[in-house]
Amino acid sequence: MDWFAHHKRDLPWRRDVSAYHTLVSETMLQQTRVEAVLTAYTRFLRCLPTVAALADCEENALYKLWEGLGYYRRAKNLQRAAQMIVTDFGGEIPRKVSDLLRLPGVGAYTAGAIASIAYGLRVPAVDGNVLRVMARLEADYADIALPQTKQLLTDHLQNVMPAQNAGDFNQALMDFGACVCLPNGAPLCRTCPVADYCLAFAQNAVGQLPVKSPKKTRRIEERRVFLLLFEDKVALRKRPNSGLLAGLWEFPNTTDDSEAFLASLGVKPETCRTIVPCGEAKHIFTHLEWHMTGTALTLREQPNQKSLCWVDAALLVKDYAMPSAFAHYRSYFLDKP
Ligand code: SF4
Repeated sequence: MDWFAHHKRDLPWRRDVSAYHTLVSETMLQQTRVEAVLTAYTRFLRCLPTVAALADCEENALYKLWEGLGYYRRAKNLQRAAQMIVTDFGGEIPRKVSDLLRLPGVGAYTAGAIASIAYGLRVPAVDGNVLRVMARLEADYADIALPQTKQLLTDHLQNVMPAQNAGDFNQALMDFGACVCLPNGAPLCRTCPVADYCLAFAQNAVGQLPVKSPKKTRRIEERRVFLLLFEDKVALRKRPNSGLLAGLWEFPNTTDDSEAFLASLGVKPETCRTIVPCGEAKHIFTHLEWHMTGTALTLREQPNQKSLCWVDAALLVKDYAMPSAFAHYRSYFLDKP
């Protein structure tokens, strides 16, 4: 904590601490780099400064505010959490961990962060940084990918947390992991302020810790993506309300036969004025990789297919939030407003 007092990162959500600010920032930070969150956080809070404003936000506007962060399900869960806070907790973010865990999208880490940082309660918040630091400090060879390892380390932290400043304690561990005890064999042991207490350092075992079992290999999907253009419009589709990228806009795409897919959208070869390849792109999800091949089709007539929504191409980038999976194809419209 002495180290933290001198070296803590200056982050916007630390300048004006509240349970709402912690809920928003910690949700954004899940699986996203701090740099990407910095701009999005400020923009988000400017438009949605309160739990009530977030609960009432229109879905497209919410997704637009979330743009650049990916994993859009978090945005939807964050809004559902806000709605539950309004209906079940009188608009106040609860203090009790058991209540926090009822909120959609809030797991043990986020609940611990809110309870400790915003309310000063002695609750650990254990993320990947904390697990790595603890495994090295204690030369603990247990697999940190296993829930039981996380639980044991959480219990251990619960016992050693100070009575005061629990939020600083948790944030000190997070920052220390992010800035000194770095992942991938690159920790700054030579300048580390706790090297004298570090068992991994003493045992020359830093490179072997933490132990983490590899993730399952990702499934690969070959996808064809179509930019359907008619006059100054482009066709978008809404994804289903559940599953991957639920409820978001996308360019029509398929893993099936291209011709049959286009026919299902009412696009026939003879109605295409031009057919132009628009590049390949790859997007990696947690368990899945999309390998995409894009084609732009300029049509002579607008297909009458209800699943397609024809939007002004000049407004696509400004008004429609799309998953970053389509960033390559979306950039096509940056130069052609
Ligand atoms: Fe991490 Fe190295 Fe410090 Fe140990 S000595 S806590 S491994 S940075």
